[in-house]
Amino acid sequence: MTFRNLGLSTDLLRAVADSGYTEPTPIQQQAIPAVLQGKDVFASAQTGTGKTAGFTLPLLQLLNTTNPNKVHRTPRALILTPTRELADQVNDSVKTYGKYLSLRSAVVYGGVGIKAQIQTLRRGVDILVATPGRLLDHVGQKTVDLSQVEILVLDECDRMLDMGFIRDIRKILAILPSSRQTLMFSATFSKPIQQLANTLLKSPTQIEVAPRNTAAQQVEQVVHPVDRDRKRELLSYMIGFHNWKQVLVFTRTKHGANRLAEQLAKDGLKSTAIHGNKSQAARTRALQDFKQGKVRVLVATDVASRGLDIDQLPHVVNYELPNVPEDYVHRIGRTGRAGNEGRAVSLVCGDEYPFLKDIERLLNQTLAKEVIPGYEPTSKSQPGADQPTKPQRSNQRRSNRAKSQTPSKPTRTQKPIKSGTPARKRRPTASSV
Ligand code: AMP
Repeated sequence: MTFRNLGLSTDLLRAVADSGYTEPTPIQQQAIPAVLQGKDVFASAQTGTGKTAGFTLPLLQLLNTTNPNKVHRTPRALILTPTRELADQVNDSVKTYGKYLSLRSAVVYGGVGIKAQIQTLRRGVDILVATPGRLLDHVGQKTVDLSQVEILVLDECDRMLDMGFIRDIRKILAILPSSRQTLMFSATFSKPIQQLANTLLKSPTQIEVAPRNTAAQQVEQVVHPVDRDRKRELLSYMIGFHNWKQVLVFTRTKHGANRLAEQLAKDGLKSTAIHGNKSQAARTRALQDFKQGKVRVLVATDVASRGLDIDQLPHVVNYELPNVPEDYVHRIGRTGRAGNEGRAVSLVCGDEYPFLKDIERLLNQTLAKEVIPGYEPTSKSQPGADQPTKPQRSNQRRSNRAKSQTPSKPTRTQKPIKSGTPARKRRPTASSV
């Protein structure tokens, strides 16, 4: 299967070739022809599957073939995303794939000034990428006209609902033309998502692809049982001991992310936190510093991590397990991307075992558990703590090694298992959409 077989125009094929893609991903193989045929689409796909190109390429082609060449352009395609980062990323993709076309795109989201966005909209836009709240601000100020929207994309729909955007989405839907093409992308199919799909989509083409990380079997996953109050110490030790240069660490709360980044910095590890409370400028800077290697550890919450496109990230650490098992799959999807091997480490303490069980059930596999000598959990209730041993005094030495950030040769080999089995299928029933 090639991109040429999918019916894309020469200009789009050139842009795809420039991006270095040789073969369409499974979601692209299914979504591109369906969108080109004008169908509504309901797709289960996560970040990392190539879903963005899956809807952007055919959308560009449809708009380009019917380009009305109007003097003043109003959005003909609207792409809604849950976060600013994802909005930026999608807009970048629109620009990348549309570089040989004369369509204009823009992105609007909150947390930054509205004036520049108003000016951009005034100059005319064909494709608008937006987060729901700020889009409604523009609607309220009459700085955007959505009456000509032909194609609506709801990207990471489940996350938008999780973040409480459903009312905003409904308000936006109410002002869009009812005769339009609608594409819905969601990692999960909860009841509210299915209900939304029921009300929005007309005879949709349903697409389901396995998350890239489980399908590609490229992510090594391992669980280290450890007491909660020793997690930070163990993390510093592992980063120093293995000389990890770029680590994405997940916490459950914003406060936890801030505190951990501060503590790691005290351990001598350059760290920064990224979460929804930070300004857009601070988040962008943190991400850039991390990508450029100026910051060694990026501590993130699940919401902030959505839409982060960091290819070839070697290490992801779950400092705390998420209570929504699908978030685990999203998190580890940050590693082992673009054909590279990755490693996902989870530090798990006693009260997190129910979460671990849920995750293992979703993955349909048991994750390897490995107690790190010197960090044995002390509570009897914890798996892996059957024969508790006293923490070794050598920990201080290990922390110091982490502090110095000097490379050190691992003296013991760890043998985590590969993620071998595809995640449980979450196929919507025919009657659900
Ligand atoms: P997405 O799931 O849209 O976030 O895409 C994940 C990553 O896959 C991005 O870095 C894309 O640039 C990349 N990508 C998208 N389509 C392809 C393809 N056909 N071949 C290789 N990489 C791709």
